[in-house]
Amino acid sequence: MDLARTDFYLDGRWVTASGGETIPVHNPATEEVIAAVPAGTAADVDRAVAAARAAFDGWAATPPAERAAYLDRLHAALSARADEIARTVALELGAPLKLATRVQAALPLTVLHSYVELAAHPATEETVGNSTVVREPVGVVGAITPWNYPLHQVVAKLAPALAAGCTVVLKPSELTPLVSYLLFDAIHEAGLPPGVVNLVTGTGPVVGEAIAAHPDVDMVSFTGSTATGRRISHLAADRIARVALELGGKSANVVLDDADLVTAVKVGVGNAFLNSGQTCTAWTRMLVHRSRYDEALELAAKVAAGYRLGDPFDPATRLGPLVSAAQRERVRGHITRGLADGGRLVAGGPDAPVPDRGWYVAPTVIADVHPDSALAQEEVFGPVLAVIPVDDDDHAVAVANNSRYGLAGAVWSADEERAVRVARRMRTGAVDVNGAPFNPLAPFGGYKQSGIGRELGRHGLAEFLQTKSIQR
Ligand code: NAD
Repeated sequence: MDLARTDFYLDGRWVTASGGETIPVHNPATEEVIAAVPAGTAADVDRAVAAARAAFDGWAATPPAERAAYLDRLHAALSARADEIARTVALELGAPLKLATRVQAALPLTVLHSYVELAAHPATEETVGNSTVVREPVGVVGAITPWNYPLHQVVAKLAPALAAGCTVVLKPSELTPLVSYLLFDAIHEAGLPPGVVNLVTGTGPVVGEAIAAHPDVDMVSFTGSTATGRRISHLAADRIARVALELGGKSANVVLDDADLVTAVKVGVGNAFLNSGQTCTAWTRMLVHRSRYDEALELAAKVAAGYRLGDPFDPATRLGPLVSAAQRERVRGHITRGLADGGRLVAGGPDAPVPDRGWYVAPTVIADVHPDSALAQEEVFGPVLAVIPVDDDDHAVAVANNSRYGLAGAVWSADEERAVRVARRMRTGAVDVNGAPFNPLAPFGGYKQSGIGRELGRHGLAEFLQTKSIQR
């Protein structure tokens, strides 16, 4: 695999970056530098936006069925690279190869495929009295994405934006930019018209801010931390540009007293530790009915102890490293503070053994976490589960909603209707009842500080459309 890239994808071509600066890319399992990508500048963003602007009218006017055919070709070109995608994400993120294959590579292919169908019928016209209501693409979209599901988060923006008739400038995370190069190889092979999608790599403060503040970018679609989302909102507000924000979370997993505890805890711990806990929807607060609390803690400790840390390419590895040394230090700090604030260590912890090399943190379960404490309120983004006892359903709902976030959640009960009643009262964008499977067509997004707007399915496509009424 050739990992060194020196170029951007602009106006349908690979173009050598103008500046000489590069950003190193690390393998988090070995701490070694494995590649470098160009550090873009505001001038590079200008070129990319100009290409996207020039391509917009033509792409917006392309019949939906033709746009769908382009997405179909892109899906085929990307599918052919599935193994390489999985290996690249395992290398630059440290995700175990099994997870990288089943989720990091497979999920974006599923999502892209769903938009092949949706692109053929992006929106229906409506008649309201003497008005014809039409839906039109928003325009040039700036897409800024994080590192934790590096291809999925890109595809979840790019596919609906293209299906809607928008053109795109992408800036992927500087920590995991390599997989985006594979995507753009596929875009080139699929023959998308020049300027319809453009890639500029670089840092957030330089390339990200240049995109968010650009007068010719009509919409910024961002996934990342709430702090950066706030900054992007400020920049976009100056010119009243549309923003879609997919931000952080601190999701509650509510385990009621009649739940199948073994399954609830096993799936709950697995969800909290998925991708080494670097998952925005992770159920990082487990709220357990007091009558089952001790039993749940015992099970959680057992499940956590069964996680094997190690080389992402070893099939036995279940937990890879965190993405960076800085992330590892942040997560360790959260654990130490959680214990100082009165939490009780049940598994893992700051001194638990981890591989000598690589940015690993042991899977950690902390009990008796106070619902107002930092560990219950702040997003950790590492393999750390906070367990909180609750008295009854009302108390569970109150504790679940005691958060400035609202991205995901779960409820477990032998009585599905009871679980759904609790789910309806949770102020959050998605709730899974009794471990129901992920639905890639269901709207995905946050309440409160977890974001604005929805991704996936037809709701995700609608974000990239605007509405016009024609009276006659
Ligand atoms: P981040 O906010 O640091 O970075 C995300 C992207 O924004 C990167 O491409 C980065 O370069 C860019 N960026 C940074 N500063 C910027 C600025 N000032 N202006 C413009 N762009 C800037 O987030 P991260 O650390 O990469 O990702 C982790 C966060 O993402 C977590 O908080 C997680 O919850 C969140 N996340 C949310 C979702 C979701 O769908 N809700 C999905 C995945 C991750």
